[in-house]
Amino acid sequence: MASITLNNLGKVYPGGTRAVGDVNIDIADGEFIVLVGPSGCGKSTLLRMVAGLENITDGEVRIGERVVNQVEPADRDIAMVFQNYALYPHMSVRQNLAYGLKNRRTPKAEIDRRVNEAAEILQIGQFLDRKPRALSGGQRQRVAMGRAIVREPAAFLFDEPLSNLDAKLRVAMRLEIKELQKRLRTTSLYVTHDQLEAMTLADRLVVLNGGKVEQIGTPLEVYRRP
Ligand code: ADP
Ligand code: ADP
Repeated sequence: MASITLNNLGKVYPGGTRAVGDVNIDIADGEFIVLVGPSGCGKSTLLRMVAGLENITDGEVRIGERVVNQVEPADRDIAMVFQNYALYPHMSVRQNLAYGLKNRRTPKAEIDRRVNEAAEILQIGQFLDRKPRALSGGQRQRVAMGRAIVREPAAFLFDEPLSNLDAKLRVAMRLEIKELQKRLRTTSLYVTHDQLEAMTLADRLVVLNGGKVEQIGTPLEVYRRP
């Protein structure tokens, strides 16, 4: 696990749009931060800068003691869960789970151990030999989370992971993520526009508006009406 620090983080896109500016957030070891705000406020851009998928224009991202501005996504020791699952369609669930570890030359016994553990935690053991197309949306999202878990990363990044699920499944998966959070205590940065997800999952909420931090606090502090 690791802390994540954003120091005066900013992003101007080619063409001149300022998507993010002057963002300062200290995320403690094991803390679960939820990033909320209106469409276009910069949530996605901010997360993608932490992930290394977007160049940083100003400031820095630290993971633990390391400044990772120029570090490749694969070397940042973080795992990201996407809204569209991003599974490899031609691979089985087991292969999808193992892929990232194989690329890092993790020994086979260790891969098997982690894949089986993730499969148990997420209750996808009976699907390990299926292809993603033979799974429901909720099952695919579990596999996507499994792929993040097996990495045993310092931090998780979630980009609206439940947005493509129907309302009932969204509730169930929200509670599963809550359970995962209790069990693993991995530092997390989670983007959503769902207030229930934000209330349930967040240790602290960060409200972005126009690319800037408008408010930081516990769900009670942020949603308390004056
Ligand atoms: P959110 O995730 O909160 O909806 P985004 O980070 O996607 O917000 O977008 C923030 C701002 O940056 C918006 O004004 C958006 O139009 C702009 N933007 C996002 N991606 C790009 C891009 N690749 N090129 C130019 N502008 C972008
Ligand atoms: P979200 O708000 O969930 O990120 P968007 O529809 O805003 O979804 O963006 C979808 C994709 O399009 C993202 O990869 C984003 O970076 C890109 N994008 C958003 N706004 C712009 C823009 N003005 N110019 C170019 N790309 C953009």
